[in-house]
Amino acid sequence: MTAPQTIPAPRDGTYVLRGASLITMDERLGDFTGDILVAGGKIKDAAPRIDGGDAEVVAAADYLILPGLVDSHRHTWQSPIRHTGLDWDLPRMFVELFKRFGPNFRPEDVYAATLFGRLAALDAGVTTLLDWAHIQNSPAHADEAIRALREAGGRTIYAHGQPGIEPERWMKESTLPHPADIRRLRERTLSDDDALVTLAMAARGPEFTTIETTEHDLKLARELGLRITIHIGLGANGPKYRGVERMHQRKLLGPDVTFVHCCNCSDHEFHLMAETGTTACVSAQIASTCGGFGLPATGKLLSHGVRPGLSIDSEMSASGDLFSEMRAALNMERALTLNDLQSRPRAVSMTARDVLGLATVAGAHTVGLENRIGSISPGKSADLILIPRHALNLAPMGDPAAALVLGGHAGNVEAVIVEGRPVKWNGRMLDCDPRRTIALLERSREYLYAKAREYDRAAAS
Ligand SMILES: [Zn+2]
Repeated sequence: MTAPQTIPAPRDGTYVLRGASLITMDERLGDFTGDILVAGGKIKDAAPRIDGGDAEVVAAADYLILPGLVDSHRHTWQSPIRHTGLDWDLPRMFVELFKRFGPNFRPEDVYAATLFGRLAALDAGVTTLLDWAHIQNSPAHADEAIRALREAGGRTIYAHGQPGIEPERWMKESTLPHPADIRRLRERTLSDDDALVTLAMAARGPEFTTIETTEHDLKLARELGLRITIHIGLGANGPKYRGVERMHQRKLLGPDVTFVHCCNCSDHEFHLMAETGTTACVSAQIASTCGGFGLPATGKLLSHGVRPGLSIDSEMSASGDLFSEMRAALNMERALTLNDLQSRPRAVSMTARDVLGLATVAGAHTVGLENRIGSISPGKSADLILIPRHALNLAPMGDPAAALVLGGHAGNVEAVIVEGRPVKWNGRMLDCDPRRTIALLERSREYLYAKAREYDRAAAS
């Protein structure tokens, strides 16, 4: 197998990816063997044969190329406690996050966590990520996170949330408004919506604040021209607060809102989301491993006409790669529908192609970027991933969507391109020092665990 030659051109370079197996996720184009012309960071053309003139040619016949994956909700700040929360249920998770760990995060911890979390996602082919950042313990925390995201090089929507402290005040029928620092970030730091790192509001919403506070926060987001992402239908809070219904009563729903999880929303609430164009995302891995979330709402959303994006949520208790998330979403949905004995006979529910769509084009819609990313379509940004056709875990290559969803893993992502610029090539992240990044994370992790032990001692005495 020959690896493609290194593309020397930066983001405004012009080149042709030649002879690849294209999974465009563009309904008009479908799958075909052909070329992609990239220029000025954009996909200029995708066709069976393109004459690129003087453009550099990358021999890509050994590769599948598909649009970069989209994660529509992840908390990268939780990277220092990655893979340690598998046995925490939802109430315990809140204690760990907002009492044992969150209050002790320093700006440098947020920098280390965000840099590591974003780079690891990029390495796994997640070209676009919405970073749901409820660790705003000071303005410097946001500044350091944004610095890390810009350094990492992916496309990221930085969703500014509340501080990671005092959950009783901030997250229990709270009357505290969204931190005012979001205005500074909008006006001074992330005012350009065409940049790679952009801003959104990670609002607590009606399951964590009073409805008046939610209304106030959303008014602020809309005044600032920001999209809004809200956890909803989470565990017992879904039926307790009926947040979607109450937001609807105040005319707060709309296409600029994304609901995260939706596990325990009512059918009426799913209907309201569809009717108002409100978007949604699911986190099938964490919903199936963490007690108290409720079942992933993938099928319920789809059956009401809301096509959700996929999301990792937290690497505390989920794999950070979207191949695992696609499998979890597919498996959970199939388990639920194929075993629904009430309504036999069941047709096959979600297909591999469907779930690949959730991780790409539907994810783009969920984060409000469907005009720019999510498919290999002329005019969209050249956010692409290259996967070898001859990997042992993917062979034999019949239906590539099924091969990727059932057999794919992050290690298959051999190259990642963001806005035309290669950020990973020949299996190696470019402009990234993994040792430094991991060392920063481990130093931060040690500090945070020492502080958590102090918390434990104080709590025991
Ligand atoms: Zn979350």
